[in-house]
Amino acid sequence: MSALRGVGIGLGVAQGPVVRMTEALPAPENTPSTAGAEAERARVREAVAVVAQELTQRGEAAGGAAQEVLEAQAMIAEDPTLQDEVDSRIDAGATAEWAVHDAFAGFRATLEAVGGYLGERAADLDDIAQRVLARLRGVEAPGVPDPGHPFVLVARDLAPADTALLNLDQVLALVTTDGGPTSHTAILAREKGIVAVVGVGDGHALTTGETVIVDAAAGVITREPTDDERARAAERAAARRAADDAPLTPGALADGTSVALLANLGKPADAADAVARGAEGVGLFRTEFLFLSASQAPTVAQQRDAYRELLEAFPGKKVVVRMLDAGADKPLAFLNDAHEENPALGLRGLRALRASEDILREQLTALAEADAATDADLWVMAPMVATVEETVYFTGLAREYGLKTAGVMVEVPSSALLADRVLAHADFASIGTNDLTQYTMAADRLLGSVASFQDPWHPAVLRLVREVGAAGARLGKPVGICGEAAADPLLAVVLVGLGATSLSMAPSALADVRQALAARTRDDALRLAEAALGADDAPSARTAAATLAAALPPHQKETTS
Ligand code: PEP
Ligand code: MG
Repeated sequence: MSALRGVGIGLGVAQGPVVRMTEALPAPENTPSTAGAEAERARVREAVAVVAQELTQRGEAAGGAAQEVLEAQAMIAEDPTLQDEVDSRIDAGATAEWAVHDAFAGFRATLEAVGGYLGERAADLDDIAQRVLARLRGVEAPGVPDPGHPFVLVARDLAPADTALLNLDQVLALVTTDGGPTSHTAILAREKGIVAVVGVGDGHALTTGETVIVDAAAGVITREPTDDERARAAERAAARRAADDAPLTPGALADGTSVALLANLGKPADAADAVARGAEGVGLFRTEFLFLSASQAPTVAQQRDAYRELLEAFPGKKVVVRMLDAGADKPLAFLNDAHEENPALGLRGLRALRASEDILREQLTALAEADAATDADLWVMAPMVATVEETVYFTGLAREYGLKTAGVMVEVPSSALLADRVLAHADFASIGTNDLTQYTMAADRLLGSVASFQDPWHPAVLRLVREVGAAGARLGKPVGICGEAAADPLLAVVLVGLGATSLSMAPSALADVRQALAARTRDDALRLAEAALGADDAPSARTAAATLAAALPPHQKETTS
């Protein structure tokens, strides 16, 4: 058994036999044209027109994001600059085939040199060139194979035209050796809910016919899986299908204990998707995401309009808005542009806001105005609060502006350890497990070399969560979780066992967490939390909880089809 790694798209898992994508057409020879420039140009025009038309038609059949991508491809195919490049080669005596091949390769190299988002468009150009070449040669364009049975498709990278029309009854999962998380393959796979792992550097080793498990949640391809691994993957796949099909009920444990399931959002436009996925409100609205590229502080009016749009999407529902969280990975030039050796430990979060109190006051003004104009239940909170004094400062200021529910984010161990005193002043606490883990483990959350420390399953992090949960229970104050940890279905149950009263996450994780909660009672959650707390490190805590979970009877009927 061996495993290959890449970037997983979504949380799905699938297994089946590999079928490799049909290989690309061989490159043409650079032999001089015998037909003459006029005829070669006419051949290219005809081929390009047909390919562009085919792409447009495929787009119309697919709809959605796929249509946009395919229409963009059709436009590239007919791009005048590219046509000029092709023509100049034909005028110099090249055949239509060579001119197309060479001109597209030149364009591709330019995009790759730019890198980033544009670099990831390189595969699109290859696909168009291959389609035009196939048309010129009168052969089928290379594409997705049809072996007559369901399969795991392995390709260097998929062209948008292929991804858009994948037969989802046949393609169990997608593995690409190239492509990053923002490649078209990834974008379309996410939209279509295809289990996918992209950028699998060693993916060329996979051979047609071998059986693999594709685990997008872990970004891992397991070769020669054992029967046990296959059975577990099948169980997970069945549970995910059941979660997706389940009704959008409010979050609750099997014994009826309510645990509100909320959304983490970065812009008002994302609210509709969250509502469609059954979010009961917003647990974290990251206001700084609205202004990341701004060089000056946003005006009150600008902010009010954005907050109002958000609140209008959640009439009568709780919406927790976080004040601007500047610093480290989220630089806001207008709040803190000082060079700091350790920005995560610097003037960030509430510290930066306090140093520019006029900006904090303007944000509170905008929120109060948006609140007055809408029916949502607005809660406000400050990021990176480290002391009781900061809690008193922020909640007092928020109440000065008539904002009735003011709380703090618990992201620093000091405020978790003094949670009872923090909660004596705050109306609620929301635990940011991303930063709480970073600060507890002294591991920069942006640094790949210490990524193994950045694991919220670590019992030290769980103990701090328990401190806050217990303080909230004693004082009758809500304790939410809004870090990535809440999106891990098993950890979500553990967090409830530690005292979390609501969970907020990326909307795409809501269905899985809803299902995980519904399968456990409060007593189960407490036992799972105890099991995790008793471990020495993060992997053992995860294993301890998973082992106990497997032994506990599920309280919810799970679909196994
Ligand atoms: C967190 O730190 O867990 C959190 C939710 O805030 P952010 O990820 O935006 O820092
Ligand atoms: Mg944070």
